[in-house]
Amino acid sequence: MNLTPKLFKTYAKRGLNNPRLRKTYRFATQHALEKRLHVIQEVPEWEALRDRAHQIKEEAIDRLDHYLEMLETNVIANGGKVFWARDGKEASDYILEVARRIRARTVVKSKSMTTEEIGLSRTLEENQLEPVETDLGEYIIQLAHEWPSHITAPALHKTRGEVGELFAEKLGIPYTDVPEVLCEVARRFLRSKFLAAELGISGVNFALADTGAVVVVENEGNARLSTTMPRVHIAVMGLEKVIPGWADLPVFLRLLARSSTGQKQTSYVSLIGSPRRPGEMDGPEEFHLVILDNGRTEILKDPKMRESLFCIRCGACLNTCPIYQRVGGHAYGSVYSGPIGAVITPLFQGLEVAKDLPYASSLCGACSGICPVKIDIHHMLLWLRKQVVENGGTPWQERLAMKFYLAGMKDRTLYDLGSRAVRLALKLSGRQSRPLNVPGWTDTRDFPPLAEKSFKTLWKELKRQEET
Ligand code: SF4
Repeated sequence: MNLTPKLFKTYAKRGLNNPRLRKTYRFATQHALEKRLHVIQEVPEWEALRDRAHQIKEEAIDRLDHYLEMLETNVIANGGKVFWARDGKEASDYILEVARRIRARTVVKSKSMTTEEIGLSRTLEENQLEPVETDLGEYIIQLAHEWPSHITAPALHKTRGEVGELFAEKLGIPYTDVPEVLCEVARRFLRSKFLAAELGISGVNFALADTGAVVVVENEGNARLSTTMPRVHIAVMGLEKVIPGWADLPVFLRLLARSSTGQKQTSYVSLIGSPRRPGEMDGPEEFHLVILDNGRTEILKDPKMRESLFCIRCGACLNTCPIYQRVGGHAYGSVYSGPIGAVITPLFQGLEVAKDLPYASSLCGACSGICPVKIDIHHMLLWLRKQVVENGGTPWQERLAMKFYLAGMKDRTLYDLGSRAVRLALKLSGRQSRPLNVPGWTDTRDFPPLAEKSFKTLWKELKRQEET
């Protein structure tokens, strides 16, 4: 399935008209929010932690060049290689070059939204390689040829019954919806791929500038296998993933698992510092770090938007968003969905392609309220709406109505004349006392009839009564 943010309204309608999907999203997001609430209550210094995380990210992003260079120096000193990729093509070409050199056929992948962002699996397939997603959720959507519907739970939109049907169809096993059996089937299949793979590709949750280590946080152990079993490991990170150093890591580890899965800590936290050293029993022979820009330095230049680079991809803003809960992750037409997806997709792909996404919000502010690094998400959405309007991205009827509204709001006489004219028009058409029908607006909400007298008239009458 090919997705594009251009079709947000169409996809959203599809999601809204699917009661099964809405129920699945409601259940999954509420469950995640309840678990989160439970574990953060055990941390009295939660707000202070969020403030600290914000400060650390601010420092890292303000001095990004400094920390990235420090990271590069340390990765090389540890025996790794660093490749700077301007865009997805450069990153993919580099990975293909490594794969060809080591004659790789099977590539195991784990924990990488960044490789989803650049469509790496498709590129690998087109070049006769076999990419295998090893995290269960990613594996399910790879089998289904779909896109992730959530930043941390990519197969959130699927029920276990659907996963059972998928496994029966694609893997030829008898149908079952028992999670333990399905996990066992996936485990057996994936184990053989881990053993066969020559190349492992992972994402990066954090990159520590002061040591040159990358950190991968997960629950299934697949990232650890992907990064240690194949001969070569390539980690792909967006350049915003760097943090100053080791001492900052606990702040993020405490926030990430709680915000994401409602756990105190994930089952695995892997720190990958170097390729295998002489005398070591395991680990890859080569370690490569691909540092991807792909539009991020443009975001960095924009003072209103650069905070979006603070995101640690926990997914909490998706869970709490009333729009995401109803329309679902695929509606956004991007691998990044929910409120943060509605901010960064227009920045990555251009507002002309993704102009509807900033409107995929009620602006209630729940996203900003829950974000563990205190990103002011809903104000960014508001700012993007301003850009859409200024670039003429709204319908002409809306622009015209807004012009009238603005003129009326600036001039008292014009306002009075306008409201009188509307009242008169409604009276003459006999619709004064009936609810109005405004195509588009009243499809989903009411437009109550206008009051017989305006507030101003009532106020004047009241004053007159008081005086007499
Ligand atoms: S914007 Fe904040 S809440 Fe949303 S995914 Fe990123 S870190 Fe999590």
